[in-house]
Amino acid sequence: MVVLTVYGCALLLLVLVVWGIAALVSVIRGHAVESSVELAQDKTAITADERLVQGIPLSQFETHPVWEEDFLTPNEYSRPGEPLTEVNSIFVHYTANRNTSAAQNHSYFEQLKDTGERSASAHFIIGYNGEIIQCIPLDEIAYAVKTRNMDSISIECCYKSGDASFTQETYDSLIILLKWLTEVYDLSTEDILRHYDCGGKKCPLYYVEHPDAWERLKRDVEGQ
Ligand SMILES: [Zn+2]
Repeated sequence: MVVLTVYGCALLLLVLVVWGIAALVSVIRGHAVESSVELAQDKTAITADERLVQGIPLSQFETHPVWEEDFLTPNEYSRPGEPLTEVNSIFVHYTANRNTSAAQNHSYFEQLKDTGERSASAHFIIGYNGEIIQCIPLDEIAYAVKTRNMDSISIECCYKSGDASFTQETYDSLIILLKWLTEVYDLSTEDILRHYDCGGKKCPLYYVEHPDAWERLKRDVEGQ
């Protein structure tokens, strides 16, 4: 009887120990699973924060004005593919080709790869209906301002008027695009330049001949 009781107690003890170990293992395992879920969530958060689109954090990039992305074929005359690693100025140009559309100017930049007649391009072209075409990603240089291609973004504007002033639609899109670019690159409106301000080329003609209108344009960007 005594032997049986001792045997019974030992068995009970063994069952308790095994149950205890099993419980402990399951708690540890549960904790490990939770930790790895947390870790995975952290990783996702970091990846989302750091993901860049055209060199710009995704959350900022997503707020860009409506534009049509139509990148030029990489080529030595209009899209050399060199990285644009800093942006200190934004240059405004006019196409110097009255009544040509944004699509036509895009085609002109594109066919330079075949003709090789000159080196020219811009990141954006704004048409006289206000449409914006992006020709070059914002983390690559364009060929637009001889000495400043390495640290600037360029915008070409189409026009119809004899005095080379922009249509209201072109102007409105330009202001919105300039506002977005100055915010993204942490620039002031003083960093918005005419091509003329770097090298003296009469571009954009209307704003070279009307400096007061140029000042107003910068105020309009500020006021947006
Ligand atoms: Zn120009």
